[in-house]
Amino acid sequence: MAGTKIIRGVEETHQFQLLIKNILDAGLRYEPHREIVYRDLVRYDYFKLKERIGRLANVLSGLGVGPGDTVAVFDWDSHRYLEAYFAVPMMGAIMHTVNVRLSPAQLGYTMRHAEDKVVLVNSEFVPLIDKISGDLTSVKQFVLLTDEKKRPESTIEFAGEYEELLAKSRPDYNFEEFDENSIATVFYTTGTTGEPKGVYFSHRQLVLHTLAITASVGAYQSQGRFRSDDVYMPLTPMFHVHAWGLPYMATMLGVKQVYPGKYEPAMLLKLLLSEGVTLSHCVPTILHMLVSSPVAKSVDLSKWKVIIGGAALPKGLAEATLKLGIDVYSGYGMSETCPVLTITYLTKEMLESDTSSQVKYRVKTGIPVPFVDLKIVDEKGNEVVHDGKSVGEIVVRAPWLTQGYLKDDDMSRQLWRGGWLHTGDMANIDQQGYVEIVDRLKDMIKTGGEWVSSLEIESILSQNEAVSEVAVIGLPSEKWGERPYAVVVLKPEFAGQTDGNALRVFLKKFVDEGVLNSWSVPDKVLFTDSIPKTSVGKMDKKKLRADLAATLTLLNNENLKKDM
Ligand code: AMP
Repeated sequence: MAGTKIIRGVEETHQFQLLIKNILDAGLRYEPHREIVYRDLVRYDYFKLKERIGRLANVLSGLGVGPGDTVAVFDWDSHRYLEAYFAVPMMGAIMHTVNVRLSPAQLGYTMRHAEDKVVLVNSEFVPLIDKISGDLTSVKQFVLLTDEKKRPESTIEFAGEYEELLAKSRPDYNFEEFDENSIATVFYTTGTTGEPKGVYFSHRQLVLHTLAITASVGAYQSQGRFRSDDVYMPLTPMFHVHAWGLPYMATMLGVKQVYPGKYEPAMLLKLLLSEGVTLSHCVPTILHMLVSSPVAKSVDLSKWKVIIGGAALPKGLAEATLKLGIDVYSGYGMSETCPVLTITYLTKEMLESDTSSQVKYRVKTGIPVPFVDLKIVDEKGNEVVHDGKSVGEIVVRAPWLTQGYLKDDDMSRQLWRGGWLHTGDMANIDQQGYVEIVDRLKDMIKTGGEWVSSLEIESILSQNEAVSEVAVIGLPSEKWGERPYAVVVLKPEFAGQTDGNALRVFLKKFVDEGVLNSWSVPDKVLFTDSIPKTSVGKMDKKKLRADLAATLTLLNNENLKKDM
């Protein structure tokens, strides 16, 4: 806007830059004696963290990494990853958090596309890198990360092993100040079509994101607060959207942090209990795995707070989790948005209400966190009314959204149509401003001309006592365009005890109560042992649709009429 007054001060006035190093400095000032723990293998305090970050920067600079260069990290959640979260961007370099679950071809593509110069790779992934190392034309050096003394067999010539290199280098590194708009991180998101797309975030964006989530989950009085006396353990891979930014927040607060390495249920539960973990975050699949393990019922998990995101928290899972005394709630965001956009916020009145009334709000994705400008719009871009029913696409503006897709102007323009980032998520907003994700645009089912939310049917079916996991997808129907199809995993004790008809009768109760439309009740239910998952542990509906379509073509018409 013209006419506002800007005073920049005199030449000597310092223009402070929002840099990731400031996040680390804060933690060190407040609680330097708190620990960073890695499995049952490593523990040290924040002084040591700072020292190791300095050493890592010296190692990397010795390997030729300078400002603007990209360093790829290929590890499970570890103290080493946390060190890279700081050392790499603090040097002015860019940290590429590699999705370890991509196919070799996609890995090769993303590492070439990001122009990775140095790769830090866990010994477990060396065979994978071996397969593609010939194609990694930009990579100059590899560093081995390992918990064992034994070296893996490989054709790669490593510059050295991480701990040995750190031990040999100096702890002090002069982290200079530079432009806060410098890129700090990059990673890739796998869409429905084409190659993975790179998203990128600057220091300024990550600092502002950290401050906003610190306010949103720490300062406002509500459920599941994350404060400096908590013990934090991520259950979201650190390669996926900065583990939702919480390692940065935890470090700023000087929180005790526990990194579990590869997610193994026994180790997770052990750390959870022995380290006194009080806050984690994960996709529903991981929570489901922990909550349904027999051990969960025999231990006290009542001090644990869990933020669920990445996919909708089904009501049944929320209820089972709350029953164990776990304070569970939701957050919403995506790779393109750093990621946090909205987080559950229970008002005093909601907190005083009984559990079943609270569930409704805990599974909604809450309200936009400070500085997020979020609206729902129809196909023409007009805002949709906030009545808790009308559905529109979520579009957003915030200080921490990716400016586009790396080296892809066409897709970037598509993402940022009309100056708003288009999420592709359909939602309603109620009069209090609570956002409820109804579905991904591409997962909604259009049957007989009416839109049906797969998430809503899943959430209701998850409340059936026999259902362990459920995915609902739309498949083509000559008569209706598409029809919903439920794929169900039964709890072991209910195997063979229920059938598609019983589940339809269960759903019809919700139809009678006016919660669900009759056309939302799936004609067919397929029982299976497991539901395919994506590289970040969400239900893989794309694969499910393809698998199911292939199965159905193989079967004759008689079978098509039946549940399976
Ligand atoms: P990703 O980019 O892999 O992090 O996936 C982001 C997508 O996950 C979003 O666009 C949503 O479709 C979905 N998502 C994330 N959080 C939630 C949530 N709390 N409820 C429903 N869907 C979610």
